[in-house]
Amino acid sequence: MDRMRAPRPELEHLVPYDAKDLKVDIALAANEHPANLPGEIIDKLASRLREFRFNRYPDPMASTLRGLIAEANGLEPSNVLVGNGGDELIFDLLLAWGGPGRKMIDAPPTFTMYGIDAQVSGTELVRIPRTADFSVDADAVLERLGEGDIDVVMLAHPNNPTGNITPETVLIDILNATDAIVLVDEAYFEFSRHTMRPHMERHPNLVILRTFSKAFSLAGLRVGYLLAHEDVVRELTKVRQPYSIDAFAQWVAATVFRERVVFQQAIRDIMRGRDTLMHGLSAFDGVTVYPSEANFILFRIDHASALWRDLLHNYSILIRDFTRTPGLEDCLRVTVGTDEENERFLAAMGEILSSRKASQILGNGAHARHGTVGELGY
Ligand code: PMP
Repeated sequence: MDRMRAPRPELEHLVPYDAKDLKVDIALAANEHPANLPGEIIDKLASRLREFRFNRYPDPMASTLRGLIAEANGLEPSNVLVGNGGDELIFDLLLAWGGPGRKMIDAPPTFTMYGIDAQVSGTELVRIPRTADFSVDADAVLERLGEGDIDVVMLAHPNNPTGNITPETVLIDILNATDAIVLVDEAYFEFSRHTMRPHMERHPNLVILRTFSKAFSLAGLRVGYLLAHEDVVRELTKVRQPYSIDAFAQWVAATVFRERVVFQQAIRDIMRGRDTLMHGLSAFDGVTVYPSEANFILFRIDHASALWRDLLHNYSILIRDFTRTPGLEDCLRVTVGTDEENERFLAAMGEILSSRKASQILGNGAHARHGTVGELGY
């Protein structure tokens, strides 16, 4: 046979999630923690590495880690499900509550995986765009929920990439209006310090998602978890891959979680770095900065793509370009880095913007320098 059967037609227009994993000096594009695990934790792991049983399958439910997370959140282990990053759990939710003939609401611009997973799982996506200041359009969501046919709602809180949280009253109104599964994605909880956890007892349809990828320096191991009613967890165990969280990741994440006070100072430093970036960016002419409760900042500027390329090619700084996302034209997102990375980013911005200004004054084509860079194919 010299041909290959076509895949599912739904995939034809699907664009894979592109993490742009370019090798750069300063990587501020993926909302990761700027520092590796603290040395004391690495030493602790290293001292016990020889005893680690690489040859055995992992505990399917990550019981040790699950128990620790449950205890810390005042819940039972049956209310916790650990996954291969938050990403896996988002997908599992749609495997169980989405699918052909079922509908999910999201509020774009938001985390792109919600939409991708909806398409892959055959779930109909009902997009209710955010308002101009990126608030959830509560009236529109409540009205749509009133039709009674929505199965899942996904809201990032704080939202990625816009950085804002949704007022608790709005989330409660949504929970009161529906029996759909409402995923409140708290991937950035450790920076926002806002959680819907206190509302779980009253709302069995509330599901909270968290991750070890941001505040706990573990993006490379893929560990996330959700807090939910035990019936939700039970259904999800039917669709999940049994060994999705490998034994090494379970061990490291449990060690990190036990030692989590060690991370408090770094979290405070990141929040301080966020203020530095916020003030630094706001001081530039022509930059609109959006307030953030997370470890990243979204900003708007003319010719944003040219700026993104200039940062990459002339300064080896990678941030995230959202200019092709509806509602985020001319928007870029920068992750809070170390103090030095933040300073170098702001210094590079300063240089690029003053050279722009100079070339505008000279009237010699504002982006002569960027034009050549564009030819590299980005
Ligand atoms: N939710 C949101 C809002 C995110 O921004 C991310 C990561 N970018 C995730 C979930 C998934 O995180 P992970 O899979 O690394 O746990």
